[in-house]
Amino acid sequence: FVNNTDEFYKYCEENEVEFVDFRFTDIKGAWHHITYRMSAVEASMIDSGLPFDGSSIDAWQPIEKSDMILKPDVETAFLDPFTADSTIIVICDVYDIYKNELYAKCPRSIAKKTLAHMEEIGVGDAAYFGPENEFFIFDDVKFRDDVNSSYFRVDSQEGAWSRDTEYEGGNMGHRPGTKGGYFPVMPTDSMVDLRAEMMLLLEEVGLEVMLGHHEVAQAQGEIGVKFGTLIEAADNVQKYKYVVKMVAHLNGKTATFMPKPLVGDNGNGMHVHQSIWKNGKNLFYKEGEYGNLSETALHYLGGIFKHARAVSAFTNPSTNSYKRLLPGFEAPSILTYSSQNRSAACRIPYGAGEMATRIETRFPDSTACPYLAFSALMLAGLDGIKNKDIPAGPMDIDLFELSLDEIREKNIAQMPHTLREALEGLIADNDFLKPVFTQEFIDTYQHYQFERQVWPDEGRPTAYEFISTY
Ligand code: GLU
Ligand code: MG
Ligand code: MG
Repeated sequence: FVNNTDEFYKYCEENEVEFVDFRFTDIKGAWHHITYRMSAVEASMIDSGLPFDGSSIDAWQPIEKSDMILKPDVETAFLDPFTADSTIIVICDVYDIYKNELYAKCPRSIAKKTLAHMEEIGVGDAAYFGPENEFFIFDDVKFRDDVNSSYFRVDSQEGAWSRDTEYEGGNMGHRPGTKGGYFPVMPTDSMVDLRAEMMLLLEEVGLEVMLGHHEVAQAQGEIGVKFGTLIEAADNVQKYKYVVKMVAHLNGKTATFMPKPLVGDNGNGMHVHQSIWKNGKNLFYKEGEYGNLSETALHYLGGIFKHARAVSAFTNPSTNSYKRLLPGFEAPSILTYSSQNRSAACRIPYGAGEMATRIETRFPDSTACPYLAFSALMLAGLDGIKNKDIPAGPMDIDLFELSLDEIREKNIAQMPHTLREALEGLIADNDFLKPVFTQEFIDTYQHYQFERQVWPDEGRPTAYEFISTY
């Protein structure tokens, strides 16, 4: 791994690099790339950037102003473990040549500005994020990818589900049932080798891997990696998704981070652990308080809860996201906090000392663009610190047991129930984002989400509606 342009060239030479793959993230969180021949890469390109067509990226530039610059962040360089020829990947920011500054719609640039803002207002000098991205592994599926059809169908005749479920209804003598994957060893857990391959490759691309395990739902898995600074952690989410999807793909499987692919079983979350530090001290820690949480931590959380509707437009940005946030599946929508309790929107991991004290927001999912999601969470938190917001709680009861009436009686706020509600929340409440997000970006983002997700979804009958209507 490299620190500057000279080291980059040296590293490329040592590894006989043939191609340099420049990558950047769009507002959906998708990675895009341009591949250069090593011989065509000049030092000036690494230092000052390379041109690309910004008009072909969703919701970015109009055709008459399409030229943009990619600014490589050379310390992010790593070898692509999946290409046949030696290829080095470099993560880039997008630069606006018309305004001569980082592009206002580039998520990674927004994340950098969020960090700068935190330092500027003097709250902290470091922010740590620990995302936990869950996923399902299915056998390679033929989706009916026809936008005009009324619904997407998974054709189980072609082996739609994972090995956990494939032969359901057949001879189950040596086959695990559809449920029961959570924690039993092989052969019930059929993903051991896949996860191992993922874990080794994640290390190769620079993540520090701690553990891997089957998750609660059938065919669901998770790999635990070490937290990082806001930018590192978001870069790592991009690498993590790339590796998990590629390993599944190369094994004839498909990995999905979709929040709720299966009805009646747990969905995929992206819990986000967070803490803010200053002068080497964890600002979220106060020994002896509930969960060892300081007032600063509570205010931060208060801000997140207060702005939860708008925040969720970034942390839960798909129509499917809200199908996961239902009681009973460890994906909480009730905006309170609790030590250990997985039914609260924020859990305080048990028994952490100064180094490890943090909050775990449990509602986000992996359809989020990590740069935008972490920025929105942090800006809401910083606003909470400024206004000394107080979160509801702590509540140490099983909140999934509460009826909707009881939740209303106790006056506890909930997450929005649809993407529409979240986007309307964002339209009504976005001042807390303004130190960093431009009005133009917020407008573009909400329009894009309405057009791309909300309206097409609202206009489509679902498979369930064929049963529920006469
Ligand atoms: N899969 C659950 C979710 O949707 C989380 C399970 C866990 O606590 O790891 O968030
Ligand atoms: Mg999990
Ligand atoms: Mg967790």
